[in-house]
Amino acid sequence: MTDQLGFNQKHYDVIIIGAGAAGLMCAAQAGYRARSVLVLDHAPKAAAKIRISGGGKCNFTNLDVKPEHYICTNPHFVKSALARYPSSVFIELVERHGIDYEQRAHGQLFTTQGAGQIIQMLRTEADWAGVELVLGCQIQRVSALEGGYALATSQGDVYCQSLVIATGGLAYPKLKASNFGMQIAQQFGLNVIKSQPGLVPLVFKSPWKEWFANLAGLSLEVEMTCQGKVFREAMLITHQGISGPVVLQVSNYWQPGRPIMINLFPQCDVYAELKQLKAQNRPLAKWLAQKVTKSFSQAWLQKYPFDNALATATDQALQDYARNLTHWTLYPEDTAGYNKAEVSLGGVDTDAVSSKTFEALQQPGLYFIGEVLDVTGHLGGYNFQWAWASGQACAQVV
Ligand SMILES: Cc1cc2nc3c(=O)[nH]c(=O)nc-3n(C[C@H](O)[C@H](O)[C@H](O)COP(=O)(O)OP(=O)(O)OC[C@H]3O[C@@H](n4cnc5c(N)ncnc54)[C@H](O)[C@@H]3O)c2cc1C
Repeated sequence: MTDQLGFNQKHYDVIIIGAGAAGLMCAAQAGYRARSVLVLDHAPKAAAKIRISGGGKCNFTNLDVKPEHYICTNPHFVKSALARYPSSVFIELVERHGIDYEQRAHGQLFTTQGAGQIIQMLRTEADWAGVELVLGCQIQRVSALEGGYALATSQGDVYCQSLVIATGGLAYPKLKASNFGMQIAQQFGLNVIKSQPGLVPLVFKSPWKEWFANLAGLSLEVEMTCQGKVFREAMLITHQGISGPVVLQVSNYWQPGRPIMINLFPQCDVYAELKQLKAQNRPLAKWLAQKVTKSFSQAWLQKYPFDNALATATDQALQDYARNLTHWTLYPEDTAGYNKAEVSLGGVDTDAVSSKTFEALQQPGLYFIGEVLDVTGHLGGYNFQWAWASGQACAQVV
């Protein structure tokens, strides 16, 4: 699949806007059904988010994919496509292309040689399927016609029977993320659920901001709870607040003004250990330092002093202090925004789209796939799996 400057023809069976994960998957699969397929993207390169994903190694799927790993206003919406395209099918594709991968914690699969291999695989598949790709193409207007759509673009007008919107979400604007898909949805009367950054660090205002800044770079294994959802993974302290896998997971559920709760000791009975410290007359600071590093221990004890009181502490006081360590409640000021987010929550309302075909219920021939929809996965390869599964399902009907 070579990048073209113009279109080979004026009419296509299928035009897909967005040469990202979902768009390329859909293009190849529709091409294999002998549909003529054109993919348009305004970016100079295809699939820019795949290239930077997973720290450049692309966490392309997960061994354990369940509907519970997704956030969607209608939690049933994801079931059909995910069931019809399990991660094992994508893994087979990766293996067929000779791409080496490794399994990391929580069933996450990453390439070992780099995310570019996944892009190359998708482009090769699209090429074999006879798909045309035009990059750097601005879509100026979309109009519905009798039995199809007309697109006015910077490369001229072009027509199709089925129009697939695969323009993704709003995260990472520097990679040409746009709200084009939401605008098209609104143009055709579909509801759009308000977007907000997801899988994103959380930031704090003073005095917590300075408190965290002094510990920037420190990583702790914690359990974090937000809106009843619990995750246990690493928390990384940053100059603005907190990040790391556990924070990204929780950020999908956090709302401004709401607290998050951190258990600094998910693996031990803190009350029992504090009682033991008291009985043995051992210093709290040393015990804390062994568990959570000296710098964190010092900063914590400055904020929540207790060492002097330990020897005479009542059971209730010990319990209260243990609770503070296991139910540390913080109120983040905000997320770090779309520039630092991996995904956006919200998007095209799934109530307006078929979960089987991804066609707009009130607008025949118009389809929405991937992250542009109000579907957001947890961290762990779930967002790509959604792109593959929705792209594949849509490709069967366009
Ligand atoms: C830093 C980072 C790391 C990530 N790591 C992972 C990971 O390891 N695993 C995982 O599962 N997910 C990861 N994600 C999320 C994942 O990249 C997305 O969920 C996924 O790419 C969504 O696929 P999509 O095809 O819907 O959209 P995208 O892949 O974003 O593709 C959308 C395409 O549409 C094009 N487009 C947008 N607007 C227009 C327009 N107006 N006209 C024409 N074209 C347009 C864009 O240029 C882009 O090529 C990561 C995201 C980021 C930002």
